[in-house]
Formats: sequence, C-alpha cells, structure tokens
Amino acid sequence: MNYREAVDNRKSMIFPGIRTYYQEPLYIVKGENQYLIDYEGRKYLDFYSGVATACAGYGNRFISDEAIKQLQEIQHVPTLYLNRPMLELAEMLLGLIGRKDYKVMFCNSGSEGIEFLMLLSRLYKRDGHVLSFSNGYHGMTLFSNYMTGIQSWKHHGDVRLNGGHVETPYCYRCSYGLKPDSCGMECALSLKKAINQMGEENFSGFLFEPILGVGGVIVPPKEYVKTVAEIVKEFNGLLLVDEVQTGMGRTGKWYGFQHFDIVPDAFCLGKSLGNGLPIGAVVAKDELADLTAGVSMYTTFGGNPVSCAHAKASIEFIEQENMLKHIDELGVKMVKNLEGLYEYHCVGEIRGLGLMLGIEFVKDQVSKEPDPEIAHTVFNKLREYQILVGIGGVHKNVIRIAPPYIITEEDVDIFVRQLGKVIDSLKSNRLL
Ligand code: PMP
Repeated sequence: MNYREAVDNRKSMIFPGIRTYYQEPLYIVKGENQYLIDYEGRKYLDFYSGVATACAGYGNRFISDEAIKQLQEIQHVPTLYLNRPMLELAEMLLGLIGRKDYKVMFCNSGSEGIEFLMLLSRLYKRDGHVLSFSNGYHGMTLFSNYMTGIQSWKHHGDVRLNGGHVETPYCYRCSYGLKPDSCGMECALSLKKAINQMGEENFSGFLFEPILGVGGVIVPPKEYVKTVAEIVKEFNGLLLVDEVQTGMGRTGKWYGFQHFDIVPDAFCLGKSLGNGLPIGAVVAKDELADLTAGVSMYTTFGGNPVSCAHAKASIEFIEQENMLKHIDELGVKMVKNLEGLYEYHCVGEIRGLGLMLGIEFVKDQVSKEPDPEIAHTVFNKLREYQILVGIGGVHKNVIRIAPPYIITEEDVDIFVRQLGKVIDSLKSNRLL
C-alpha cells in the first residue's frame, strides 16, 4: 500500500475522530531501537515512544523473543484457568512496590484500568464520589472519560456519574495567582473544600496522575501530594493513582508515586507496561482487592500470556540494563541542556521528571500568554529534522518529550541542538 492509498483508505475506512499527528501523517513501517522508519525509509529519532509506550525501544530482541516463544506455546489462556506468565508478572509488579500487602488484576488498556479502579471505589463505597484534577486525562471509555478534566478530551456530554474535579496544582499558572513558596497549598485545600461540600459520607476517593501527561507534563509539588494524601485519609477516602504514563520507570522510579512519600490504596498501569503490546493492570491493597471476592469478574484478554511474557521481559530488560539510573541521569542532563533555551522569550517553562519532560511555549515570559501556534510550529519543524515529539497541555502549547529509555547522551545532544536550531529559525523568520 503506497502513501496515497494509505491516506485515502484511512480516510474512507477509519473513524475520523481517531486523529493523526501532522498535516501529512507519518506512515510508519518499521522500528529499530529509538528510531521509527517510514514507508520511504526515512529514519526518525523518536522522542515520544508512541505516546510514552515503547519504553524499551522498537524491535528489542531480548523482549520480543520472549513474546514469540510464548506465542508459539499458547497465545490465549482465559482467566478461568491458571496462567504462568500472568502469575509471574503479578509477582514482579508487586515486588516493585516493595510491600507484600497488594494484589493485581490484569486488563487491556489504561482506560480499562481506570474503569476497574472506579469499580473498586464503588465496592468500597456504593454511591461514593471520586474527585480528580480539572486538567487530568484518564481515558476514552465512559467512566475514565468522565474522570478526565481537560475539556478538549471530554466526549460524553452531560453524562452524570459520581465524581467531580478539583484545581490542578499547576504552579506555572496558579489559578489562585499564588507563588509555590508562599501559597499555603491553597489548591490542596480545594480538595478539602470539595469534600466538605459533598459531605464526607459521599466521598470515596481521589484519583490523580503523579505527573499530568496529556495535561501538559505538570509536576505537582511534593508538599501538595503529601497534603492531599493526608486529606484523603482524614476523610476515609481512597488514594487512587493513575500510573498509566508515569509507571514502569518513565520518571526514573518504577512508579511515579514513589517520588512522593505516599502509599496509594490502588493504582493502574498501561502503556509502558507492555512496551507496546496491549496490557493494563490494576494493583490494589489487599483489603480493597479482597472486596472483589463478592463479585464475579472476568476479562477475556486480561492477563493474556503473550502480553504478560512481553511485559515480564520488558521489566527484566529495564532491571538488567540499570535503566532507572540511566533515565534519571539523562533526564537531569536533558533539562540542564534545555535550560539554555530560556534565552528565547517564547520558552515559558521546562519541567518534568526522568524521561517525562515538557516545554511550555508562551508569547513572552512575562505575560505567560500561551502560544499554541509556536508550539505547533516547533512540533512540525522537528519532524522535518526527523525528530518526533508530542504536543499537549490545556492550552495545547506544551511540547511533550517521552523518549524510549534506551536513548543515549548523544541522542539528547542531537535533540537539544536541533530544537535550538528550530527555535532560532523561527526568530530569523520573524515568527518570534
Ligand atoms: N491515563 C493516562 C494518564 C493516560 O495518559 C492515558 C492515555 N493517554 C490513559 C489513562 C488511557 O490509556 P489508554 O489510551 O491505554 O486507554
């Protein structure tokens, strides 16, 4: 199928709501480590990992060989039978928390993981409400989309489920106009106000991303997370963490919540868990997981042995290659090198943890007026330089950086240099 046919077929056969990046979409036919290759053999340095998913890179033989072996043995075992790769993966995931009082269930995607978190919250408190961030993203299915706060991603109209949203701790654009060192954590207190408003008896939990991904790579202050965790406990709610983007090492720790001194009641995983094969998981404290003993649960593909074998090998690879240290070091290096870009007045803020970084573009550093146009121009120009990144944020003005963990220092240098050139070219073209 040539390029034109691929574009035309997509247009005539695929739901138009399923968006592609770029005016002329990329037609990818192969992946090699940190590179994607298009139908004409052009090689792109991928600094987005297919939306923070192909964490150990493309065509990683160490990982794919395990999936192939499993595929040749047996490709499907329903949850009605015992399944070795699933049980071994569960043991690994629990081991990464460093505690023994959790249990796991597997599903197929991040959205589905959120649905099961919501099911747990309802088993905990029948008609309880879960609160989440106004700028958060949690998926496309009915409940996960309801918990999503970002308006541009909310698609289910005025469906009323139990729950609501609270202020996002977005310090660069504090909705209270306060400064992080003297704000008194006003945004954390907004959670308390919301709970008081609904009444403690109606509150069942708080769901949040340790770093908001789609919302524009927003890192909540440590103090914020500690305070909300205390508030949730005080009001007998569940601390529910969406680790779909931050999980499996992306931020330099296995789970994003491990940066903050908190103990979640439950969290869900997706994306990097399977290094690109579809798999999701929900991990919950024993007492919460055990509530499901009273209901019958089944998912046809949850715990699929091929996905589990792939996920297991991906974790082994990350461990053997000491990737967490590498992610941490490269993340620090990248931020340090990117900071040179502050000389351009369109660069508002560079932020993130590990290899989950964002650059927020603004009209100028004083007014901080969002500049989605410049962000899109940078995004498109980087593609011309054969570098792929993502774009997001509530104002659509944040370049999202989430490369496979296997990138090298040299890749970081190339990326920072090319990004600098792109921004500089905008200046000479008087776009800045
Ligand atoms: N939660 C977060 C934080 C996400 O980033 C995403 C996907 N972008 C989801 C949930 C939904 O995951 P999926 O697309 O696998 O359903």
